[in-house]
Amino acid sequence: MGPGGKEDTMSNIKITRTTTPKAKPDQNHLGFGKYYTDHMLRIDYTAGIGWHDARIEPFGNLEIHPAAVVLHYGTEIFEGLKAYRRPDGKVQMFRPMENIRRMNNSARRMCLPTMDEDLALESLRLFVELEQDWVPSAPGTSLYLRPFMIATEPNLAVHTAKEISYLVIASPVASYFPEGLKPVKIMIEDEDVRAVRGGTGEAKCGGNYAAATRAGDRAETRGYSQVLWLDGVERKYIEEVGAMNVMFKIGDEIVTPKLTGSILPGITRKSAIELLASQGITVSERLLSVDELIGAAKDGTLDEAWGIGTAAIISPIGVLAYQGVDYTIHNGEIGPFAQKLYDDLSGIQWGKTEDPFGWTFPIDQQ
Ligand SMILES: *Cc1c(COP(=O)(O)O)cnc(C)c1O
Repeated sequence: MGPGGKEDTMSNIKITRTTTPKAKPDQNHLGFGKYYTDHMLRIDYTAGIGWHDARIEPFGNLEIHPAAVVLHYGTEIFEGLKAYRRPDGKVQMFRPMENIRRMNNSARRMCLPTMDEDLALESLRLFVELEQDWVPSAPGTSLYLRPFMIATEPNLAVHTAKEISYLVIASPVASYFPEGLKPVKIMIEDEDVRAVRGGTGEAKCGGNYAAATRAGDRAETRGYSQVLWLDGVERKYIEEVGAMNVMFKIGDEIVTPKLTGSILPGITRKSAIELLASQGITVSERLLSVDELIGAAKDGTLDEAWGIGTAAIISPIGVLAYQGVDYTIHNGEIGPFAQKLYDDLSGIQWGKTEDPFGWTFPIDQQ
């Protein structure tokens, strides 16, 4: 984008400010998705015309036709990323272009239109700039950004929809672990599956979550926080944990399931692999069978296990249950490897440590 390009794009995004700004919530009780900011970003798409009417408007309910395709056939994708308050008071995002590219990949799978990367990034930047007072500063808090795309065309026939809306809403959120990284109990799921190759596992779409809820609820009633998913064909290979990617330290090897097509390509996963590579540590992206994992748990070589994603960054796994047996990992405590990875990643995200990778994306102060 040349000089002046920013202004050109910005002038295409109409801003209507709220006349009734809300009071900011107490930073000590933010929760997750409990509060929303004053505005939302919206861009509409019509087949034959393309994306149009980019605007930031007061946050409010959507009006939607009861026959809108999304309500019947689940034509929806989303993203999740955060804006962080640095110690110097400035606001930054973390690798937003990665989210935009992944959203376009999800769009291609779900017959939704892709977006011009620069329009998506510039509109997101402008939105966060406008809402920057909503980025909390208490330790571990952030402003969670939720871009999503829905098929709004009223039509009960199953086909590629011609009317689409893209929106971004924002919610100030608490630290995932307000009392430090607390290991969770996880149950290996061998009934339901989350995704199959050729399906939608690689796409970040609401339908994957709808289908995954039953197993998560069942695990909770049995006293576990979440499930560890196995592959959908053989129920043999480890895929993800809940809605996070997963990593293990087995002996001296750091292992994460390779992206076979049914696993969501996490940006935190990718960042961890790149960060560890810069420290001389290779992460093996390979198939990992549940038998190998349980074998390692039994013989004591399964040193550490953790979920990895934007919401928690690192969620250590203290107990893994398989076929009715609980296996305790690292005495049910967080291990040093996962702790250091958390410190390194979160340091860059919150601007507490230097970012040698160019991953952070600063927001201008008003
Ligand atoms: C979003 C998501 C992840 C994590 O991706 P990040 O980009 O690291 O936040 C992992 N698995 C699933 C199923 C997801 O939806």
